[in-house]
Formats: sequence, structure tokens, C-alpha cells
Amino acid sequence: MHVHAIQTGTVAIKQRQVRGSGQGFGRRLNTMLDRVWTNPLPIYVWVIEHPEGIIVVDTGETARATEPGYFPWWHPYYPLGVREWVRPEEEVGPQLRALGIPPEEVRWVVLTHLHTDHAGGLAHFPKAEILLSRTEYQQACGWQGQMRGYLPQHWPTWFDPTLISFTPASVGSFPQSYPVTRAQDVLLVPTAGHTAGHLSVVVLEDDHTLFLAGDTSYTQQLTLEEAVDGVAPDKQVSRQTLQRIHAFTQQMPTIYLPSHDPEARERLLHRHPVQVPETSTGHSAPFLISEGSNAPVFGHTYALVVSRLRFSRRALEKWRAST
Ligand SMILES: [Zn+2]
Repeated sequence: MHVHAIQTGTVAIKQRQVRGSGQGFGRRLNTMLDRVWTNPLPIYVWVIEHPEGIIVVDTGETARATEPGYFPWWHPYYPLGVREWVRPEEEVGPQLRALGIPPEEVRWVVLTHLHTDHAGGLAHFPKAEILLSRTEYQQACGWQGQMRGYLPQHWPTWFDPTLISFTPASVGSFPQSYPVTRAQDVLLVPTAGHTAGHLSVVVLEDDHTLFLAGDTSYTQQLTLEEAVDGVAPDKQVSRQTLQRIHAFTQQMPTIYLPSHDPEARERLLHRHPVQVPETSTGHSAPFLISEGSNAPVFGHTYALVVSRLRFSRRALEKWRAST
């Protein structure tokens, strides 16, 4: 499977959005009032060339977002919390064509969530099936969606996503998942936190997984620290997700790829996994996937349920020897 990173421009946000500070509404207020901006961060889209069809994960931002009047004037986040730079040729459509992939041939578009810098390029994919969490869609619709920081007014008129329901088929530390491909090597997992209906994409490669993380965190280090961002609606939910992702990365070699991590492209290119500390107990847990709802659970919350072992014994031993 070939996986590409496409960068659709850059975004700067407040430092306290990257690493939240304070409690409740104060945390979000601190984000907007923070005077420290990040450097311009990449806005990544991931493209998976799968035998069953091309899968695009997130659509990046549109150049229209840099035009006056694109963001609602009355919402404080846009003037106070975000700056974006996108040229028309940086949008996902032209960049896919440059790779030799006509956007109309994309079979699936997966949206990790509906924030503008992930859904801004939707107009390039009128023919694709668009997969999205039901919760995320419901949160983003209407004027309440606009209040929450979504831009439903800019969705294409044809936008009619497939709202997925997770099934109790566990993947690593995630008790639920949704298979995109028949081969069950591209799976969605619920990662609520940054938004209420956020999801991530797990891609199974030979002896490791790619974790296309959306905005679960802005860098790998922040996930390992389980540091909640400055805009997540529910801190507890967010922390639980970060713990779960952290556990996942300790159970199997995982290349962790958040949408705005400046180091993500390099990690993808070299398939550079999250390091597992010597003392971690995660070594003893090979990567298992369960199917069916009544599979037994061993021991504690993150114990894995078994019916299919994805790693060959040799790959697993090689991984153990190297950690
Ligand atoms: Zn976001």
C-alpha cells in the first residue's frame, strides 16, 4: 500500500490550543486570549492507494478560507484563534492530480472531524463516498454547529456523508472499530476528544500500523504525555482517548501521524514508530483484532480480544528484539 502525505497550506494557532491550560470554559477562553502563536503548522491530507480503491483521509483547507468574509464575523475564534495560508494550487484536488490520481477516482473520503482545515477541500470529491462519525455530523450541523466552530454553510450542496456506526470489533486498545476495506486493513476507531465525534484511521501494514490521528493531538509527544488541547469540549473524554492511543502505541509498532505535526511526513516516509520504553509491559501484547460482540475480555480495560492475529510470529519477534 502506498501512502502519501499532501500538505494543503499551513495554519497557525495559539500555543494554549496545542497544550490546554485551565479548566472548563476557562480552558477555551485561555486559548483565544493567549498571545503566543505557534509557527505555521502543516495541514496534512493522507492518501492511501489501496487495492480496493483510493482512500483520502481529510481534505485539508480551501484557498477561499484566506478571503475576507469566509469565516463568520461574529465568531470570536476565527479572528482570535487561527491564521491560515493556502494557495489555490495547494488544495488537495490539484495536488492529487499532480500525483497522477484524478480526484474523481477517489473511492472513499474519510473525515476525522469537520473543522474547516479538514473539510475545506470537500468540493474536490463529489463522486467519493464520504465517511464520517454520526456524532461529528450532528454536532456540526445548523447554527449550533456554527457556534461550536464548524462551517456547515460552506459544505457543498451535494454533501451527503455516510454516517458510520462503530461495531464491537476491538483493535488494540480500542474496543470498537469500523472496517473501511473488505480486507479489514483500513479501520476507523473512535477518538473523541478534540471534537465530540472525532475518529482516527488505522492502516495495517506488514509489521506495523499507521495511525492517521487527525487532531487527537498536535504532536506525537503531546499524546505520549496525554496532554489535552485547548479546545476539546470535554477534558475527561479527551484524556481517556489520549490514554487509549498511548496504550495502542505501546502494544504494537505504530507510526503516529497527526494532521498538523511538522514531523509527521518524515515519520511516514521512514516508517518511524513510537518508541516503546524498556520497562513497558506492552511488549507482551501482540496486535490482535476481534470480530463479534461477545468475544471474551482478558484482565483489564485495554486487554485485547482475539480472533485474528495480524502479525506474523517472525515480525513480532523482530519487533521485540529491536525494542
Ligand atoms: Zn480540528
